[in-house]
Formats: sequence, structure tokens, C-alpha cells
Amino acid sequence: MIASSAFANKRYAVLGLARSGLATVASLVASGAEVMAWDSREEARAQILPGTGRGTARSVVEGVAQSSRQPLHHPAEGPPPRSGEDRIRIADPLVTALYGYDGIVVSPGVPLNRHPIAARGREAGVPIIGDIELFAQARPTLPPHKVVGITGTNGKSTTTALVHHILKTAGIPTTMGGNIGAPILGQDPLPEGGVYVLELSSYQIDLTQSLDCDVSVLLNIAPDHLDRYDGIDDYAASKARLFAMQAPDHVAVIAAEDDYTRAIAGQVTGKRVLVASTDIKDQSRWPSLQGPHNAQNAAAAVAVARAVGVADEDIARGLATYPGLPHRMERVGEKGGVLFVNDSKATNPDSTAPALGAYPTIHWILGGLPKGDDLDACAPFLGHVKAAYTIGEAGPMFAALLADKVPTVEHSVTLETAVKNAALTAKPGEVVLLSPACASFDQFRDYEARGDAFRAAVEALP
Ligand code: ADP
Repeated sequence: MIASSAFANKRYAVLGLARSGLATVASLVASGAEVMAWDSREEARAQILPGTGRGTARSVVEGVAQSSRQPLHHPAEGPPPRSGEDRIRIADPLVTALYGYDGIVVSPGVPLNRHPIAARGREAGVPIIGDIELFAQARPTLPPHKVVGITGTNGKSTTTALVHHILKTAGIPTTMGGNIGAPILGQDPLPEGGVYVLELSSYQIDLTQSLDCDVSVLLNIAPDHLDRYDGIDDYAASKARLFAMQAPDHVAVIAAEDDYTRAIAGQVTGKRVLVASTDIKDQSRWPSLQGPHNAQNAAAAVAVARAVGVADEDIARGLATYPGLPHRMERVGEKGGVLFVNDSKATNPDSTAPALGAYPTIHWILGGLPKGDDLDACAPFLGHVKAAYTIGEAGPMFAALLADKVPTVEHSVTLETAVKNAALTAKPGEVVLLSPACASFDQFRDYEARGDAFRAAVEALP
């Protein structure tokens, strides 16, 4: 874990005790900070003091009433506190005095535009931050290193994992964090010369004030998450802040292929490297980087690797051996010459479009909880679609939209039926592609569960 003298004797409230919240609490306490921890779910609060049986609802209620300096859980007759436990207090920052606190650490899942914690923080004059900001504050106390920060609407995880893989292939100590992998504060610091590769959603950037990336990357901007922003300009402005935080001699890699990224590229005053999908002439030797979207991701990753000093032959080796990520254009099986591809992570039409571009003859399974009411972004590739099988809430709408645009449309309702029917119809050499262009929550826990269900349905085929 990262423990840093930067946090010694400081006071933080941590709101949200899922994986990154728990890692944050542990890191702060190990660093000698005092922590007020809270989650609206009792089970989550209870994990804070595992094994003592004292992180219960009752003590939580008592905790709210206690003064901020007083430790909670250690009645004289109880077992002695474990190291650092006496610096954790379970209390809700919404109803507890925050005077003198150095930060309120919230998880990126907290909708700051609607959640009352934002106003509480402002009133108390306490900044609302995320674990990435804490990491940024700890950096001066870590061995000398570099940070690569990667954002964009689509392709963040792929590009992050690819940069990480190229660096590892080149023998550079490296780790991934942010929106991917283990929470960054829970990971051990890298030795001198290491490179932290961070995938940053716009929510994480909103919670970050002082992360000066050695290399920052913007892949693309398309409408997404608009429930959390006042329109797309506001969403784009959030991504632009990644560059505003950089020192002038640090590098900005931008795939200036849409209007929003081009506008941001125009504002960057430091070192700027513009990349484009068309920089990549041949993807044939990169099995896990097929499709035009991966040309964009690869172009960005190559620019990052060069910026941190990786030799071209190491970059070539990294691209060729990149294993890919689950649920992103993942080849899950081949039956009777038909390839089955799981792209469950494509949760909006913009991320589905390139998947449709990647194969010439596709049986396309799509639908779920829609993010909009059109498939315009997919229009350029509909010629590749031989048949569409729609599922979930968006199914009837998509079936109607596609009726006169692709040869066959079936509203299959469930993923299982869609896989069965697509498998019956597809001919050798064709592809059955799950790339839903929708969120999954109407029928599945998350996109991973949807991708797993697709794989299971493929495996169950005769
Ligand atoms: P993110 O982490 O930004 O959600 P991923 O790398 O997980 O992105 O990819 C999610 C999906 O988005 C992929 O399945 C793919 O269909 C699509 N995608 C990947 N890279 C890009 C890109 N550069 N442009 C557009 N769509 C992309």
C-alpha cells in the first residue's frame, strides 16, 4: 500500500467504502492521518473494523454523536485497538462537523451534481477530492517516477492496459490504477524509474486538483454520462482539466479526431502530440487490437511509449503480444467456423460502431438499457450487418430503427435466445457479435455479468 508522510496528522472524511474507499482509509491511517469513514450501507461500514465485532449499527449511531477527536470503538473491557484503529471514526460527514478537515474523499460513483456532500464541503471550506488526488499529493514522497493519465469517452481501459503492457514488455517497472485494476493507494509504490499508468474517468478528474501527469492522453469525446453534466460542453471541460493540471514541459497526447478533442487540442499550451487512427497503417500483427477504434488506441499508446522513452522495437513487441481485456472484442469461441465475439463493454452506440467496423459479415446482438434514442453512430457500418438480434428494454426501439436498414431483424428479447438464433443462422466465416450499445442494468448486474452470460450461452451451444 502507499503510505505517505504527506498525510501525517491530517484529517480526512472518506465517503463511500467500496474497494477504493477501503484502500484509502487503510492508506491514510497507515500514513498517520485521522479518518472519518462513512457509507450509507451498514455492511460496508462494518468492514472498517473487521474481526472486532464492534463496527455495528449501534456503535455507528453512537459515533455520530461523539466529538470528532474521540475514538469510537474501544470500551475498557474490549480487546485493545489494532494499530491505527483509534484514528478511525465511523460518522456521516453530511451530519458531522467538518471544521479543520483537510479533505472529503468521495468515490467517483457519488454524483457530485446532485449529492448534498458537495454543498457541505463548500460550506465547511473543505475540498472534495478522490483517491487520485491523494495519490497526487503523495507523489513527492514516492521514489522518482512518472505518471501517465489516460481519459476519453471510449478506449480508456484498452489504452491503459496497452501502455502498461508495452512498458512491462520493455522492462520498465509499472502498474495500472484509477478506473482499472486495484485501487492505486492499495498498491505498493514503484521503485525509482517506475511509471504509474492511470485510467481516469471524467468523474475521477472532477475529484482531482493537482495531478501533474508527465504524459496525459485524451482519446475521444462523444455524448455519455450526460446525467452527471450540464451538457456535453461541460463533460468535455471536465476532460480538458487533465491538461490544465499539467506543467508546461509535460506531454499531452490527443487523438484529435472529433470536434471536442480538436477544440481541447487547440487550447493546450504545453508540448502537444496529435495522433490519429490513420497513423496506423497495418494492424495485422496485433491479434488483440483489431478494428479502427483500436488503431486510435494503438496510435495513442505508441505516442505515450515514445514520450517515456521506450524504443520502437520494444513498442512493436508490446503491440504484437498485447493479450486484450475481457469483454472488449474478446473472442470467446468458434463453432462450425462461426466466430463469437464478446464486446459487452460497448455500452453506447459510439463504442459499438468500431466493433461493427471490425468484421465484414456480422450477426449483431444489441440492446439493453438505452443511453439515447438512435443508432446514428453505427450508421457507417450497418452494411456489415447481415442480421440484428435485439434484446432488453431497447430491443423494440432498435428493431424498429433497423427494420429497413439491415436484411433481417429479430427481437429476441433475451441474450440466450439471441445467441441460439444467431448461431443457427450464421454461416462459416461469419461473426456473431455481442456489442449492445446499451447499459446492461435492465437484465444484468453489470456489463461483465452480461459478457459472462454471452460466453456461457456460446459454450452451451451444441
Ligand atoms: P473505456 O474504458 O473507455 O470504457 P474500453 O477500452 O473498455 O473503453 O472499450 C470499451 C468499448 O469501447 C470497446 O468494447 C470498444 O467497442 C469501444 N472502443 C474502444 N476503444 C475505442 C475508441 N478509441 N473509440 C471508440 N470506441 C472504442
